[in-house]
Amino acid sequence: MGDHMLEIKDLRVSFHTYAGEVQALGGINFTVGQSEILAVVGESGCGKSVTAQSILRLHNKDTIDYKQGEILYKGRDLLALSEKEMQKIRGREISMIFQDPMTSLNPTLTIGKQITEAILKHSDKEGNSTNQREANKQAAGLIRSVGIANPDLRLKQYPHELSGGMRQRIMIAIAMSCSPEILIADEPTTALDVTVQAQILDLMKALQIKSGASIVIITHNMGVVANIAQKVIIMYGGVVVEKGTSGDIFYRPKHPYTWGLLKSIFRLNKDKNEPLIPIDGIPPDLLAPPKGCPFAPRCDYAMKVCREQMPREYSFGSAHTCDCWLSDENCPLEVKDWRNGDVKYKQ
Ligand code: SF4
Repeated sequence: MGDHMLEIKDLRVSFHTYAGEVQALGGINFTVGQSEILAVVGESGCGKSVTAQSILRLHNKDTIDYKQGEILYKGRDLLALSEKEMQKIRGREISMIFQDPMTSLNPTLTIGKQITEAILKHSDKEGNSTNQREANKQAAGLIRSVGIANPDLRLKQYPHELSGGMRQRIMIAIAMSCSPEILIADEPTTALDVTVQAQILDLMKALQIKSGASIVIITHNMGVVANIAQKVIIMYGGVVVEKGTSGDIFYRPKHPYTWGLLKSIFRLNKDKNEPLIPIDGIPPDLLAPPKGCPFAPRCDYAMKVCREQMPREYSFGSAHTCDCWLSDENCPLEVKDWRNGDVKYKQ
């Protein structure tokens, strides 16, 4: 197992739909270390949420098809576990929070009821006999730990009585109530305004330091990544196209899609007259994925080989990899500077 909490090995996942087989993940590999914060980045439909939900096996088993690969949690393959064994892992060892806390919280139950339910359920499974009174006390402590004042009042309130930021804090409190080893956060700040986003990220960082949990954060927002992640994987069209440390991705990016993502975000050191550049085109149709590189139809550098063969993985140091033919030593293109996209042919 090494020091990996989680290891995804060559994971291929499809969904069976009326329109045909959607090839959602095309063989992805990555690891999450102990107490590490990993960000999984990409546009909608790139496979990042499928990856997150596959870890907890949350998909409908009648439509999902795990075609190949392993999801190793502390060395155990989660795909090989029975549903009963998975239930012991969900929430207690691996927790998840979602984009919109309003749809994750039950609108008909008080916040206190929802937090204490989670505490009591997991204490039962562990054979502890936490009573309602102790659970209430723990719930108040959890609410305080996620930075919400006046916990006794909040415990009596319903979700609609709280702001979006507070509801997301409550979801984090519920997710952390069983001291999970891994917290998966699927677009946890997308529904929130910018200042609240920053507060939620600060909270997640603080809780990670305190608890030592590993965090997998799923996002389409490179700003979120810069704030929180130590390691980053960039996904496109159901595959990982680049991965590395935060420094690798922000300062030494190798893949044209990563360049596109970086050029499309606002940075404080950017010249105010310099425009934000969107990535033209649309993501590939995963009902009929392209034969070669999935980014080829949108890539300024696409060559003949790109349309015919999937690029292999190239390494740049211990953690940094990129799946792009531009990284091949025989590539005829010379890329001068990704910021101005100057394409030159080698002599
Ligand atoms: Fe562009 Fe080719 Fe690299 Fe794909 S493999 S990103 S098409 S240069």
